[in-house]
Amino acid sequence: MFSFTTAIVVLVLGGTFIFWLMRIRNRSKRHRPTVDSRGDPQKTVIPRDQHPVSRRYINEHALKVINRLTGHGYEAYLVGGCIRDLYLDLHPKDFDVTTNASPEEVRRLFSNSRLIGRRFKLVHVLFGREMIEVATFRASHEQHHGREKSRHSKSGRILRDNVYGSMEDDAMRRDFTVNALYYDGRDCSVVDFCNGVDDIRTGTLRLIGDPVTRYHEDPVRMLRAIRFAAKLNFTMAPATEQPIRELGSLLRDIPAARLFDEVLKLLQSGHGVRTFELLQDYQLFDALFPATGHSLQEQDDHAGQLIIEALKSTDRRVRQDRPVTPAFLFAALLWTPMRRMASQLMDQGVPPVPAFQQASMTVITNQCHHTAIPRRFSMVVRDIWDLQVRLEHRQPKLIETLLEHPKFRAAYDFLVLREQSGENLSAAGLWWTQIQELDEHDRHAMIRSLADKGQKTQGRKRRRRRRKPRSGDASSPSQTGES
Ligand code: ATP
Ligand code: MG
Repeated sequence: MFSFTTAIVVLVLGGTFIFWLMRIRNRSKRHRPTVDSRGDPQKTVIPRDQHPVSRRYINEHALKVINRLTGHGYEAYLVGGCIRDLYLDLHPKDFDVTTNASPEEVRRLFSNSRLIGRRFKLVHVLFGREMIEVATFRASHEQHHGREKSRHSKSGRILRDNVYGSMEDDAMRRDFTVNALYYDGRDCSVVDFCNGVDDIRTGTLRLIGDPVTRYHEDPVRMLRAIRFAAKLNFTMAPATEQPIRELGSLLRDIPAARLFDEVLKLLQSGHGVRTFELLQDYQLFDALFPATGHSLQEQDDHAGQLIIEALKSTDRRVRQDRPVTPAFLFAALLWTPMRRMASQLMDQGVPPVPAFQQASMTVITNQCHHTAIPRRFSMVVRDIWDLQVRLEHRQPKLIETLLEHPKFRAAYDFLVLREQSGENLSAAGLWWTQIQELDEHDRHAMIRSLADKGQKTQGRKRRRRRRKPRSGDASSPSQTGES
């Protein structure tokens, strides 16, 4: 009898233990926001005196838009990165509005607006050069199967997202909990459905819902995770970070034009170095830049260092509010694969100049399959590369022309970057730095002294040749094909 009772107790205790273990495991796997007894996400309203989001730092046009919408009886909130950033005392990049008015209704309310997007319909309200984006509350696709409004690919990727819903639905389909905070202009409160405020306090980046499903729906969320982790210096929740290393290949299905935009957001927002390190760590870099990834694996030349130096310089410029060009970054990112291909072609007997040209074109064309580089940038990438050889060789007759070349400054910066990353370019960078600082008279003197040095070197070469003649030497072209 005793042993029977013990067995029952052991069974009940064991069962309870397993039940709780499973619950804890499931909870740590997916982030389900708190729900009330009806299963709806629980809404927490944080009054003005309990949050740091001050109206003073909110864009006046964004406030105008929400006021006008609420004045016409619609719900309207500021949402996303702007509220997150204001919570963290950062300067928001843009102010996004969300509402229960349909895009057409919003369009009708603002004469200064236009409807955009097919995959994701939005309204842009324009105030001079400034634009406020207004999106209608979206709902989860599980709630709607109409083909017109919602479409998925075989891998689960959302191809069209025009399923509208309530504010709660809208919060659930946002990416991270910290991006799902809503600011209500009527009473200046913040509305939180996903414990986003807790995550802001602890510096946690947490995907809403089941991470694997959400990454399949939109693989760009993996890049966004890296971007926000770097920008906010947040730690990814274990369930949010864990699938990323296995799902990087999903990015191959994303249109190349969208990935180009994402790369700029990743690498040109002032946290490029950290972002690059995280992209490599989470094995996403190779999906974006396969040829460069290959060079990095081979520990080729100074590939990694050149990219780091380019990103350091970009981060510095962004912090100083100076302009940055994607061309410069892409020139650095693709330099090593281009050089490798050029030397392979030269090994096959192609002369240096055509080898460089062919390699430049091929590497850029191949990269465009992954991140479409608009022509206005790829042309500059090629200019920067083309000028490298000429800047290295410093032919006296070409100096003035080079200094006036429209892409001289970018090419010179790139040359200096190569030296900083450890390439030995016989102090060419320093020479070009000095010549730019001189007045016309001293500049001519510097060019003359370069020409004199060149003549002496030529003379020495000729004498050496005379001492030790070899057939064919006199007529063979130089390595670069330039002299
Ligand atoms: P920032 O503007 O600083 O880059 P952000 O969070 O505002 O950051 P946006 O791209 O402006 O990013 O997007 C605005 C909001 O839209 C996000 O905060 C998020 O709530 C939602 N969002 C954007 N992209 C996605 C996505 N791919 N999946 C789910 N929600 C998204
Ligand atoms: Mg934003």
